[in-house]
Amino acid sequence: MLPASVGTWHLREIDGVAYVPLEDLRSFYKLMPLQPKGRKVAGQRLLGNGEVELLFGPAPRELFIQNRLCVLTHPVLQDASGDLLVSRSDVLNLIEPVLRPTYIANRRAVRTVVLDPAHGGHDTGTVTPYAREADVALTVAARLGAELRKRGYEVLLTQEQNQYQSPQVRVDKANSAPAAIFLSLHLNSGRSDMKGAQTYTLAPLGKNEKPLPGHEFSQSSMALAMALQSAMVEKAGAEDGGCRRAHYSPLNSLRCPSVMVELGYATNPEEGTRLSSEEYQLKVVNALADGVDAYARVMNPATVLQVQKAPVVEPPAAPVKVEPAAPAKAKPAPQKTQPRQKAARRRAPARKASRPARRNNNSRRRR
Ligand SMILES: [Zn+2]
Repeated sequence: MLPASVGTWHLREIDGVAYVPLEDLRSFYKLMPLQPKGRKVAGQRLLGNGEVELLFGPAPRELFIQNRLCVLTHPVLQDASGDLLVSRSDVLNLIEPVLRPTYIANRRAVRTVVLDPAHGGHDTGTVTPYAREADVALTVAARLGAELRKRGYEVLLTQEQNQYQSPQVRVDKANSAPAAIFLSLHLNSGRSDMKGAQTYTLAPLGKNEKPLPGHEFSQSSMALAMALQSAMVEKAGAEDGGCRRAHYSPLNSLRCPSVMVELGYATNPEEGTRLSSEEYQLKVVNALADGVDAYARVMNPATVLQVQKAPVVEPPAAPVKVEPAAPAKAKPAPQKTQPRQKAARRRAPARKASRPARRNNNSRRRR
């Protein structure tokens, strides 16, 4: 279900993916079209209401919410009349839980934080002259565990002595913990010039796919990812590699909000060296603990009133009405700024276009 709306969501299906017009999103969340500050960047669309800002583009899968990068599962498309279309899945699983976390149906207070230092034992993860993934993950997890206990959480580590644990053992530990959230800590690897922190949640359910246990918590996992990623950027000073989605084996099977945090690239000389330093590790620990706190505040039913002042819209009055629309073909939004179209032209038939290539944020990953 899309968030219930006082208006109507004009759903249309393109290449098997359900899309809604950006205009519907704008009116549902009571956002205005805004002019981005500074230099005009081709292909960008900014919506805001003084409290929240959504910047789409310039790349078709890029969305910045409050200046933080969220990589969309499906590219924003443009129909023949120049209207932008956003996938229903991205509205439901990404935009909605970030803008209105207090509306997450199965939200619950956080009691236990399960920390999963990635790899261990014979499985060293990425090893470079600058950083050893398993060692950094274990040190950060141990320090983060101590910090979170000080802040009143119960903490469970999936391994504490650099031992290898199978994904199933990690999953079983987390699934048996009461009211838990799950944070898996990794270092990334790539070209030597790649850097930045990234936070992953389970890729949303595709058409004709069987739901996995992790899909039950898609919305709260995204709210958690955004809280942690924002804290990494704002408090630890990490470069923003964005909130992303992937199929990562523990995330598939966890029955709690769960994320995988790539703290940075072990393969980048500067970032790898920094990740191995105690000074930066302590910054990361404080940032992640603050991120957990921010998420826990929103999830705690006792703080609803405070949260309601956040950038959310009024509770909707009527259930969502879905208008069946004629199947339309559309093309990825071009990399240039489009003039605003008259509302009357909005549902004009669209031209045929090729299907955009998938990017690696949906790729199947096993780590
Ligand atoms: Zn890893």
